[in-house]
Amino acid sequence: LLVTRDLSKLFRVGSSRIAALNHVNLTVPRGSFTAIVGTSGSGKSTLLNMLAGLERPTAGEIHVAGQPLHRFSEAQLVAYRREQVGFIFQSFNLMPSLTALDNVALPLTFQGMAKARRQARARAVLTQLGLAQHLHHRPSQLSGGQQQRVGIARALAVQPAIVFADEPTGNLDSRTAERTLRLFRTVIARFNQTWIMVTHDQHIASFADTVVSIGDGRITGISHNTHDESDQP
Ligand code: ATP
Ligand code: MG
Repeated sequence: LLVTRDLSKLFRVGSSRIAALNHVNLTVPRGSFTAIVGTSGSGKSTLLNMLAGLERPTAGEIHVAGQPLHRFSEAQLVAYRREQVGFIFQSFNLMPSLTALDNVALPLTFQGMAKARRQARARAVLTQLGLAQHLHHRPSQLSGGQQQRVGIARALAVQPAIVFADEPTGNLDSRTAERTLRLFRTVIARFNQTWIMVTHDQHIASFADTVVSIGDGRITGISHNTHDESDQP
């Protein structure tokens, strides 16, 4: 579904240049769950942002379903992000003035869904994530982990083809994180979604099918996990 060829990203800060990504060649099959792991500053978010159409590469190619993402116009990038992609950000990017329910329901307006359906969908996903008691709280009235789960609910509600998640469980305790990762695996299977998740945590990465290690802007290893689905609660 996603293929990169010699993908590179150079940042200029003053007179210095930072090679955030260096000739990355990666293939992500449809329906797969990939984790990208690496230390702080290794280029994980940069890679994710380029695959998500949020940033443009300096050099190299990205193909999504056979289409050249690196050559998309701004309008094509907007359409890609809005119609095919869901995001779970490292910083939650919630709308501060909206309740949890309205934050999750908002992107569904772009799909032309009627208000009652939007709210029902948002309520169902928030409930699955343990936030049934917090539907009408604004972000400032929620804990960090609760805000993170609202961000997750917002991405899940849209049922996008591809989900990009940057440290989606970084603010959750280990039990809530594991429960959330199991939910990810369930929705991936149910909606045949493709997930790409950034994490620095090896245990969190073990929930993915494929683990791509990155160091200094380069892929340093790729490994595969096997999961016993009957294991799940
Ligand atoms: P973390 O785990 O801390 O989130 P990361 O692996 O996501 O780290 P990136 O954010 O991808 O790391 O950054 C990779 C490198 O690119 C770093 O050296 C960073 O300083 C640099 N970088 C990232 N964004 C920019 C930018 N907008 N301008 C300049 N340099 C940047
Ligand atoms: Mg990052």
